[in-house]
Amino acid sequence: MRAERDSDRWFAPAAAGVSVVAGTAVGGAAFGLPGAAGGLLVGGGAGWALAQRLSRRTRTRRRALATPFPERWRAYLEERYDHFERMAPDWRARFEADLRIFLAEQRITGVGVDVTDELRLLVAASAVTLSVGWPTYEWDQLTEVLLYADDFDRDWRVEDAEDPDRAGETHPWGTIILSVPSLEQSFDDPDDAFHVGLHEFAHLLDVDQSHFDGIPPGLSGAAAQAWTQLAAKEMERLRRGRSVLDEYGSEEPAEFFACAVEAFFEASLALRRRHAELYAALRDYFGQDPAAWDDARGLAL
Ligand SMILES: [Zn+2]
Repeated sequence: MRAERDSDRWFAPAAAGVSVVAGTAVGGAAFGLPGAAGGLLVGGGAGWALAQRLSRRTRTRRRALATPFPERWRAYLEERYDHFERMAPDWRARFEADLRIFLAEQRITGVGVDVTDELRLLVAASAVTLSVGWPTYEWDQLTEVLLYADDFDRDWRVEDAEDPDRAGETHPWGTIILSVPSLEQSFDDPDDAFHVGLHEFAHLLDVDQSHFDGIPPGLSGAAAQAWTQLAAKEMERLRRGRSVLDEYGSEEPAEFFACAVEAFFEASLALRRRHAELYAALRDYFGQDPAAWDDARGLAL
């Protein structure tokens, strides 16, 4: 994420211009010269309002980045998040900047939960882990993160839940639900290839219009085809019980992608050794090499 989005740089003046021209033309066509003058004013006003809105976003981001990253947050991440700990200083700086932009703009709401700074950091860290290697990526499809007090059932019940088998859920319209105890546990056990935050944000990445297809977004043509073949092969291996991935990944391609993402960041060394092709595909896709970062800090399998 950048302080000023590339699209804002050209979109604001362009949209303002279009708005002025359209206002003038519509006003002129309907009411002649006085209409054109009125339309010019209305169009100009609308264009100005839009440009203001977009520049306000840039200002919010600049403000979020203007002060040093809070030392308390950094200490918390170092203690709590293995993926942050394994990052070299330049990656950490990018991670911290993206984290602050995410927190300045995204809505995180507690449902029977007190949303602390620490919880907000865990949510943001989950999202930013996936996107930190993509400097211009925006989580535009995210509308809100809801934090639940515990795992929930298919009717989103926490209390009196009949079968609370859900730690998280992602809706195609952009809402993510996370169970707080499961989110905490995801960070506490850094190498069990279970991470509900990474899992749900991987689904959100994968939202294409209104469905999940399990093909990492941005891949098309031959690359998408190669992924589909690799996924089919790995899902078969999962069904035979010979995989590093959580077995839930064999359910369908969308779950395979989400579980592969969890394993990539949590069981990086094992994934590289036992699923070299899958590891390489995800490394190239995310632009991050967590197993190499583990090598650098002297970890061995
Ligand atoms: Zn899932």
